[in-house]
Amino acid sequence: MNRHDSEVLGGMLERAGFVLADAEDAAEVVLFNTCSVRDHAEQRVLGRIGSLKPSKREGTLKLIGVIGCMAERLGSELAAGTAGVDLVVGTGRLAAIPGLIERALASSGPVVATGEKGRSGGVAARGAIRPRAFQAYVSVIRGCNCGCSYCIVPSVRGREMSREPEEIVRDVRALVDEGVLEVTLLGQNIDRYGRDLARRPTLGQLLRMVDAVPGLNRLRFVTSHPRDVTDELLEAVRDCETACEYLHAPAQSGSSRVLKAMRRGYDRAAYLDMVERARGLVPGIEIASDFIAGFPGETEDDHSESLSLVREARFQNGFFFKYSPRPGTTAAALADDVREDVKRRRHAELLAAQREVSTDRNSELVGSEVEILVEGASKRDPERMSGRSRTWRICVLPKRHMAEPGELVRAMVVDSTALTLFCEAV
Ligand code: SAH
Ligand code: SF4
Repeated sequence: MNRHDSEVLGGMLERAGFVLADAEDAAEVVLFNTCSVRDHAEQRVLGRIGSLKPSKREGTLKLIGVIGCMAERLGSELAAGTAGVDLVVGTGRLAAIPGLIERALASSGPVVATGEKGRSGGVAARGAIRPRAFQAYVSVIRGCNCGCSYCIVPSVRGREMSREPEEIVRDVRALVDEGVLEVTLLGQNIDRYGRDLARRPTLGQLLRMVDAVPGLNRLRFVTSHPRDVTDELLEAVRDCETACEYLHAPAQSGSSRVLKAMRRGYDRAAYLDMVERARGLVPGIEIASDFIAGFPGETEDDHSESLSLVREARFQNGFFFKYSPRPGTTAAALADDVREDVKRRRHAELLAAQREVSTDRNSELVGSEVEILVEGASKRDPERMSGRSRTWRICVLPKRHMAEPGELVRAMVVDSTALTLFCEAV
């Protein structure tokens, strides 16, 4: 979501006459688009701001701006408390940023614009600076009405606000005309798409509408809330040719007791039922999850249940985080009583369990065919090309295949690791 907002903002700034700097130390204006989900993310931004002090003193750097969730959360406190910050813009004022930069450059003190979260509900995907011409994000619902007890998102991103389906389809059509093959629809809890609109379109209906856009090849959507994954949505994924067989539906924990304290609205059995329904309805679907290690009160038994869920659900991949208390959330009132070293160990154990599952699952694919959308040279080995399968697996091809970024290649899996499928074009 943040990456998409940055791409949209980059486009707006270019149209306002700004030029993207090649390097940080060549920039006159530096904007940090921030995340507040964990304390670590915020600390890193503060560190980065500090490291810009010398260029600010020398005068090459004229303005430091902090935008997005951390800006929304801290507002003027951030401008007053962090030396060097000239501009603070919250999540609802994205479109105003070009003008606010001009204002801040002319002003003697910091400029702060927050408190209108949820306002830029209609951020259009067109005109964004996209790193790859053939891939695009499209925001379909912003904000979140869920009250997961650990999560700061609702308080910094505001209430759910969906865009009209016709507007989204128009965006996708324009992107496909520009050469986009793969569109990823974005929402904090994307399954709730449309509930705030008069006609109450569902995400399943939206997928079917977007799928009908001629020339689109791959359609993805993130993030799903396990409680809100309906059969109607899964049937749409099954029926739509472009819809990729991939569901990111974070479990967060495998313990029903912890899930209750997290206020996730499902228990372990309901989560596993969702996994089974998805696999029953959509052949070949892969499921990915997030987990939080060390939520307040999490016991060794609770942790074992998360480990066993990783193994039982056989996720394709997982994202694991150590619990970080966030100010103002309901969980912040609970004692953060799992020691840091315990959190670290549990986090490492979850990662290791997922690694085993992924290694196993990927090795089962050796000898089968995949379709790869080539993204570019592999980061690890520039002699190879790397891309993604429909199920979001990283696939690597030898360079001699001469595949270009943006090309769709049918390939045979010849080897695998936990994170990578090594392929040969067929
Ligand atoms: N809307 C998405 C993403 C929310 S933030 C969703 O509901 O899945 C992304 C992930 O960060 C979450 O899935 C959760 O695993 C993690 N997260 C959120 N708050 C956290 C916290 N306070 N500490 C640690 N991890 C957290
Ligand atoms: Fe946060 Fe829960 Fe909303 Fe996801 S669904 S953004 S975890 S409150």
